[in-house]
Amino acid sequence: MADGTYDYDLFVIGAGSGGVRASRVAAGYGAKVAVAEEYRVGGTCVIRGCVPKKMLVYGAHFAEDLEDARNFGWTIDSPKFDWSVLRDNVLKDVDRLNGAYTSTLENYDVEIILERATLTGPHEITLGGGRTVTAKIILIATGARPHVPTFPGSDLGITSNEAFHLDALPPRILIAGGGYIANEFAGIFNQFGSKVTIVNRSDQLLRGYDSALRDRLLQISITKGIDFRFNAQFRSIEQTEDGCLKVSMTNHEDLVVDCVLFATGRVPNTEGLGLEHAGVAVGDHGEIVVDEYSKTNVGHIYAVGDVTNRVQLTPVAIREGQAFADTVFGDNPRTVDHGCIPSAVFSHPPLAAVGMTESEARNTYGPVKVYESDFRPMKNVLAGRNERSLYKMVCAETTGKILGIHMIGPESAEIMQAAAVAVKAGLTKEQFDQTVAIHPTMAEELVLLR
Ligand code: NDP
Repeated sequence: MADGTYDYDLFVIGAGSGGVRASRVAAGYGAKVAVAEEYRVGGTCVIRGCVPKKMLVYGAHFAEDLEDARNFGWTIDSPKFDWSVLRDNVLKDVDRLNGAYTSTLENYDVEIILERATLTGPHEITLGGGRTVTAKIILIATGARPHVPTFPGSDLGITSNEAFHLDALPPRILIAGGGYIANEFAGIFNQFGSKVTIVNRSDQLLRGYDSALRDRLLQISITKGIDFRFNAQFRSIEQTEDGCLKVSMTNHEDLVVDCVLFATGRVPNTEGLGLEHAGVAVGDHGEIVVDEYSKTNVGHIYAVGDVTNRVQLTPVAIREGQAFADTVFGDNPRTVDHGCIPSAVFSHPPLAAVGMTESEARNTYGPVKVYESDFRPMKNVLAGRNERSLYKMVCAETTGKILGIHMIGPESAEIMQAAAVAVKAGLTKEQFDQTVAIHPTMAEELVLLR
């Protein structure tokens, strides 16, 4: 398809979820495509995010499963956990996936360039090795990176990037932040036996989720032994003579730990990309500003995924990459619907949500009907685990249309994926009620809400 004016029809910067999908689909439509990646093909999700994190979540859950197994008749003598075995197996699987993503691109004849790429002109890209290439269309899919607040000693902390590679488990870990990553890693390290303290600048965990779920997670996490410090701003981190970290913060005593993990948000990767050479506009948070077709203010330059700071979720980036390729190379203009996106936090236990929280619904619609089920899953009852699940359905008062579903409890993310289809389709509470329960399950609570 290349017309000879440019080296490539499409040059993609960043081989993460969005970039890989866009490259593959555009190449499938016959475009001559190259993708540049400075780290590893697969991006955050595959290499140091969702995928390895979920494997650690599975690994961590065995701690409770082995405990709970006793009441189910199993005798398990002094189980031991070896971090290096799990870590190395996870990293091995990451290598496998990295290979699989690379093969997919190669099978579609996408040229993979393992170098950093920067824009040096509207159609010009300069690679880390010094080579300059040109492209008719450019897609920026450089993702985001962990934000680390700046204060004395903050460089002594790590981020989720490094958490997957730790030589040993820290006996005491301070996790900064109260969002997705903080709660997920708090659950993981706590199950592995580390003493976990979450330190957050506000008094809220998981801003954006329904308050009833957030309260339940907090209560369960405290019961499991995780400490919380709220309304704390960091002052400093100092390394002590014995190699520990002394953390000083407002409103609380100093805390001595072995590791500080920053989980304080992620910022779009736009620094040093040379956007100014092509005249690409960025927003207040450094994000690339795009329209509904993921097009920037420069007609032939597009951006998808976390770098646009729309919704920082892998499946969204993938859809944006697909829609971009269909639109620009498949003669099939498509946009991505960013409404009603289900999400989950893989905490212990996980929580999941789709649609509006109760307070969002009340602010938007006024009176709403809320149905709740607060129950102890059967497995927890027999295990002697006093941990309750909470399901919540928010409905429009007059029509009964479901505006949101919120769940915390075992397998809530798995259950939510199916429930989200119904919410997205605009079903009502009555239609849920007409569906016969599968008994005994936790999910049946969704069709039995009173
Ligand atoms: P989140 O946005 O979820 O949470 C950030 C936390 O850090 C908040 O508690 C916030 O506090 C705090 N914070 C933000 N800025 C600062 C600062 N300057 N100093 C101190 N504290 C600060 O970010 P994460 O890093 O946990 O995750 C990044 C994104 O990655 C998520 O938003 C999500 O989109 C995605 N992700 C998704 C996952 C999933 O789908 N399961 C898993 C992991 C990540 P406060 O709210 O009090 O202001």
